Amino acid sequence: MRETLKTPPTLPPDTLRIVPLGGLGDVGRNMTSFELNGELLLVDCGVLFPSEEHPGVDLILPGLHLVADRLADVRALVLTHGHEDHIGAVPYLLRRRPDIPVYGSRLTLALVREKLREHRLRDVDLRVVAEGERVTAGGFGLQFLAVNHSIPDALAVVIRSAAGTVLHTGDFKMDQLPLDRRLTDLPGFARLGEEGLDLFMVDSTNAETPGFTPHEIDIEPAMERVFSSAKQKLIVACFASHVHRVQQVLDAAVRHGRKVVYVGRSMVRNMSVARELGYLRVPENTLVDLKHIDDYRDDEVVIISTGSQGEPLSALSRISNHEHPVVTAGPGDVVLLASSLIPGNENSVYRVINGLSRNGVTVVHKGNALVHVSGHASAGE
Ligand SMILES: [Zn+2]
Repeated sequence: MRETLKTPPTLPPDTLRIVPLGGLGDVGRNMTSFELNGELLLVDCGVLFPSEEHPGVDLILPGLHLVADRLADVRALVLTHGHEDHIGAVPYLLRRRPDIPVYGSRLTLALVREKLREHRLRDVDLRVVAEGERVTAGGFGLQFLAVNHSIPDALAVVIRSAAGTVLHTGDFKMDQLPLDRRLTDLPGFARLGEEGLDLFMVDSTNAETPGFTPHEIDIEPAMERVFSSAKQKLIVACFASHVHRVQQVLDAAVRHGRKVVYVGRSMVRNMSVARELGYLRVPENTLVDLKHIDDYRDDEVVIISTGSQGEPLSALSRISNHEHPVVTAGPGDVVLLASSLIPGNENSVYRVINGLSRNGVTVVHKGNALVHVSGHASAGE
């Protein structure tokens, strides 16, 4: 089925063809092509991080080669949110055709812009949209709806065309008490239902998990206990894009009189973007640069680090292997993994937990405390 995207379309008029270029059967590299009357609309363009079955591989891209011959037909790329498995491959697509119009929310496109700068890609066509907005891309009418996820500013997209109406949710959950009070737009979903929806493409990550995903604020008691009991160094590892989780750590740090040090390139970059755009509130005199960490006692700072998935070159892995140039962790120190365990990463995550434990570090993780809630809706939702 995938190969057919390369050939000129032989579809009957006004027939919508949907081809997943990644993300189905993968936990990552999300990308879907919608094709109608010879025009293509792409939704998301993410990467998959390699596992230990892929030695020497840096990144796994979606099936960009399958659209390589059809780039002139692409009317737009829509990005639902700023996670790497939804935006990580954008530079590799735009390198082939930089003027593809790219739609996404303010935060999503700010993260994309940083990424494109690192790839030295300029003269791109990034178009910020917000919830409620409608735009047209060729024969596709697009409408954006707010959804709640483990990164701020996520959007679902309604795709209207001569073939009918599709709702693509992107990743989402229905936290009723999100830190930014931005709820998944259920009334918007309901209105679509009344109008008539032909296809609902929904985040299935936790579809088989019974019940409801807990609220983001439910992790606060466990985080509070960790901060109260930590007597020495405290390191919190989480995703470098989980702005709300970082906000919770920042708030706890302020309450407990600790300064905050970001460790890991993507953490420093993303949090400065999030702060500039107003998604992250950082009180004055809270942040300390890593190079000044020695001016403080261990119990005066909290380190917020990347590497919650055990990525071998990440800050946390290097700390656990005694390979980090600045940060060490030993007996009496606490590491909090405020993160999920992405399927496939089990061995690397447990390797880091084991390494830290061997060094005498107390490791708090979702296996022994409520220090993480998922970004995806469960079956009940
Ligand atoms: Zn996501």
